[in-house]
This record gives sequence, structure tokens and C-alpha cells, in this order.
Amino acid sequence: MNRYPKDFKLNEAIELSKESPFSDLHEECGVCGVIGTDEAAHLVYLGLTTLQHRGQESAGIVSFDGRTNRHVGMGLVADVFRKENLVTLNGNCAIGHVRYSTTGSSSIINAQPLLAGTPYGELAVAHNGNFTNAQEMRKKLEQSGSIFQTTTDTEVIMHLIAKSGEKNLIAAIRSALAKVEGAYSLLFAVKSKNKHGGEGTLIGVRDPLGFRPLVLGKLNKSWVFASETCAFDLLGASSVREVAPGEMVIIEKGKEPRSLPLTDRMPKKSAFCIFEFIYFARPDSKIYGHSVYEIRRELGRQLAREAPAQQVDCVIAVPDSSVVAAIGYAEESGLPFEVGFIRSHYVGRTFIEPSQHMRDFRVKMKYNPIKENLAGKSIVLIDDSIVRGTTSRKLVRMLLAAGVKEIHMRISSPPITGPCHYGIDTPNKDELIAAQKSINEIRKYLGVTTLRYMSMEGLLKSAKSGNYCTGCFSGNYPTRLPARKGAKGEIALKC
Ligand code: 5GP
Ligand code: MG
Repeated sequence: MNRYPKDFKLNEAIELSKESPFSDLHEECGVCGVIGTDEAAHLVYLGLTTLQHRGQESAGIVSFDGRTNRHVGMGLVADVFRKENLVTLNGNCAIGHVRYSTTGSSSIINAQPLLAGTPYGELAVAHNGNFTNAQEMRKKLEQSGSIFQTTTDTEVIMHLIAKSGEKNLIAAIRSALAKVEGAYSLLFAVKSKNKHGGEGTLIGVRDPLGFRPLVLGKLNKSWVFASETCAFDLLGASSVREVAPGEMVIIEKGKEPRSLPLTDRMPKKSAFCIFEFIYFARPDSKIYGHSVYEIRRELGRQLAREAPAQQVDCVIAVPDSSVVAAIGYAEESGLPFEVGFIRSHYVGRTFIEPSQHMRDFRVKMKYNPIKENLAGKSIVLIDDSIVRGTTSRKLVRMLLAAGVKEIHMRISSPPITGPCHYGIDTPNKDELIAAQKSINEIRKYLGVTTLRYMSMEGLLKSAKSGNYCTGCFSGNYPTRLPARKGAKGEIALKC
């Protein structure tokens, strides 16, 4: 039976969904964990609100007191957690997660933290990253009798831990992580079987290449892990340090954190995701030892040095993600920074009828140009990245319709020519405009007078000291990559 209305065109709907401003690249995940206070889950809840930019599809918290408490749901942190469920999340150890997933229907079963009974006690896990060999590992585990409850890569780690045969949890986590490849900043909370009341232990782990950030903070007598330091600012926690690549930090109630290496064979170089600086992380966070704001502003300055624009009146940004780079560009070039677009922050995930007529509403709901400020002007338009080019094209049309004379588009990152395998939901190569078209072809497609991207050298120079993963720009992926099937219509494997 046809499930769609008569005039419903599936292909068009798929095309339209690609055009949504919310479906280009997607944010990955954010994690937060607290131990050592009866308010653990409340603090995690607050922490998650600051990490909302890293994932808006689902949110969840697990906490341990005598019992195990878990609440997860679809949507934003503020929608998922109400007073009535927050009050049930008792205990002095809690972890939480915000997530973006690639498939809609199965999403709630994939909401994290995942929770499972293991020989070492009840174990909850929250993951930011992507296990690149998850499919292989899952197949093997299924062949040996594992029954999976979700379709996430994260569940693989639970099975590997449960089956490890090791004497204790720490050894089991090490043995499990030795079998997976890819990116992971993980938080575990475990309720040990033999402790009075089943108190929790909190564990933070970062993969040996350190793709995704993970920081450790202190709040009075309690300890906090978070994806980004902006969570500490809200909680009033002091930032102690980053969890080092390949480090496992174990925190038991009332004790100081213990640190263990994940492996005896640590790689010589890290591979911090450079896209965190360009787009993902919040500018008020400090990651990989650098202020995101400072680096993003430097990206703008560098772009102005590399790709100046002649005879323009002002610099405008596509809010919010490129505002800081645009400020840097304006500063370096001596041009005024102007607000060109107002962005609505209240749109969220909205149903729009998939018809031709409704098509343009998607971007227009989110951005509106300030016509009075733009008419008759030649502008530099800064964006942090171009993915499929669909949003940029519409923004350009809106600017031209608002009377802009000339648009000189400048992008504060190099062309994205390949997918991310480490936790960012980038489209496949055939959907990445820079993998398919030359810069001049992209310029024409967007309808701008000139188009320039940041150079790779400029990007690395602006990101200062550090060894970075630049795979989506350079094609140099720092780990082995098992053959990956097409992302569309597949099970969700990213986080
Ligand atoms: P495009 O013009 O390629 O359709 O979209 C480019 C826009 O997508 C840029 O404004 C950039 O800030 C934004 N973008 C880049 N990465 C992500 C992401 O992971 N999630 C979302 N929602 N937008 C992204
Ligand atoms: Mg943007």
C-alpha cells in the first residue's frame, strides 16, 4: 500500500530534505558527567544545555543512587527534562549526552547514555565520536551471539566490555577499546555490584589520537567531565585540564582522579579535529589548549590577508557560526563589520510541507537580511564552510533580492572534499559541492561575484600549535578506514 498522499513526490521530498538548513552537516554529540554531589544529575542537565550546539536530536541522563535512574528523550535538553523527571535522577554520579543521529525513526532507541548490565556492574556510556570499524565489530559480535538493542556504534563497546573476560572493569574497558578504531571521547558511569547502595564510579576516556575534545573540571568537592569548557563556566567549575589523548581518568566517590594510559603503544602525534575550531565548538570554550574565539578570529584575519576583496563597503557574516571569523576579517582589512542577517533562534526542527512552493521557507525561516543596511552595497560575505552549497545559494539570492550590488564570498576553511569518519555527519563525496565542482563552478552556482576559500597552510597556521585531523579537507585520514557503505538510508552509526 502506498503510504504517501497521491501528489507526494518522494524524490522531491528527499531533495527538499537535503536543502533544509538543518540537514547539511550535522553537529555531532556532547557529553557531560559529574561525581561527588547529590546534585549530580542537575549539574549534568545544566552542562548539557551549554553543549546543545553539539546535538539537538536527543538528550539523556543516567544517574546512580541505590537504584539506576535513566531518562532520555527526543529533542532539546529543555524539552526532554522536566521537573518531574529531573527529580527522579538521584544519586551522586551521573552522565549525560546530547546527540544528533542520521536516521529519524530509530532515534529514540539510540538515545544515549546507553545502559547495560555487565559482569562488572551496571554500566552507562555516553559517546562523542565514531568507531570506524563498528560494522565489522558488530558483525563479529553478532556471529558470536550478541544481541544488539540499538543501531549505534556505541553499543559495540558495551558488548566488548561485557564479553572481555577481564577481572575488573578498567581492564575490560582497556581490552574493549583496544579492539575499536576511530574517534571516541567517552564517559562511563558504573554502579559497582558490591558497594553499599551501589555507588557510582565515573570514568572519562579519550582515544589515542584525541579527535574530539574532553575536559576535566572541579566544582567544590565534585568532579566534572564535559566536551567543552563552556559547561564549566555555567556550573561555576574550574577547568582542571583536558583528558589527554589515550588517557583514562577514573574517579571514585571521595577520591582524587586516577589516570591510566589506554594503551602501551601511544601514537606519536595527536589528530585533533580542526573543524571544532572552524565550526563546532562554542567560541567561549577553550579546546586543545586554545581559545576557540581567538582561533576563529585569527582564521578571519588570515582570510583577509590571503583573500582580500577590492572596493567593498562592509563585511557581513552568516550568523552565528561565522560571526567571529567575520570580525577578524573586518579587523584585518579595515572594513566595517555590519549585521547583514538576523537569524531566528527559535525555529528548531519544523515540519514544512514538501512542495515546491514551500521550498524557500526553510532558509527564510532561519535568516532574514536587513535590507536597509544592504541595498546598493558591495559586500564581503563570510561563511565558515560550504557543504552542499544549498544554504549559501539561497542566502546569496536573498541578499541580491535585498538590493546588494556585489557579493564577494570568503570561506574561513578550505573546500570540504571528503566525508568525516570521526563523528561529524558530513554527506558523502557525491553531495559535497567542492568534491564535484571547481571553485569557479561553485562561484557560478552560488551566484557571487568572487569566491575564495582559506588555504590549508593558512588554516594550520591560524590553528597554532597542535597536530590536527584535516581529513575532510585534505583526504589525509589518520586511521585505517574500513570500506564504508553509503550513508543514506543506513543504520545510524555516528555520534
Ligand atoms: P551549505 O551552503 O553548504 O548548504 O551550508 C553551509 C552552512 O552550513 C554554513 O553556514 C555552515 O556554518 C553550516 N554548517 C557547517 N557544518 C555544519 C553542521 O555540522 N551542522 C549544521 N547545522 N550546519 C553546518
Ligand atoms: Mg553557518
